[in-house]
Amino acid sequence: MAEEKLHEAIDAMKNSGVRITPQRHAILEHLIQSMSHPTADEIYKSLEGKFPNMSVATVYNNLRVFKEIGLVKELTYGDSSSRFDCVTTDHYHIICDDCGKIVDFHYPGLDEVETLAEQVTGFRVGDHRMEIYGKCPDCQKSKH
Ligand SMILES: [Zn+2]
Ligand SMILES: [Zn+2]
Repeated sequence: MAEEKLHEAIDAMKNSGVRITPQRHAILEHLIQSMSHPTADEIYKSLEGKFPNMSVATVYNNLRVFKEIGLVKELTYGDSSSRFDCVTTDHYHIICDDCGKIVDFHYPGLDEVETLAEQVTGFRVGDHRMEIYGKCPDCQKSKH
């Protein structure tokens, strides 16, 4: 499944005329496999062994390119640095207050809120976003 997603992402890059460099390939692969919504810095750290000449700025620039062609979403929460998420289907995030871990979950029922908002306000809704905060299972364990 990760393999298939990587293929799709590479096709999307080809279709947008984005050159597929080994670094871009590795960053995409990391994003798809890690499932952890990494920051540019975390991606840099996990790939620096493989690409000693790559800088954090390069990682960031590549993430921007992916964002422009709709492959990734940039998530900003408060003051912490942006995290990057592969765009799949709509999903929500639950974020750990202690360690900052972000976990995906689905709740299709919330789509109704868009219809309701349109009816109540007359707006044409484009998107909505919701975050839930708490303490992840690992952090619950470590505090006991
Ligand atoms: Zn945690
Ligand atoms: Zn996500």
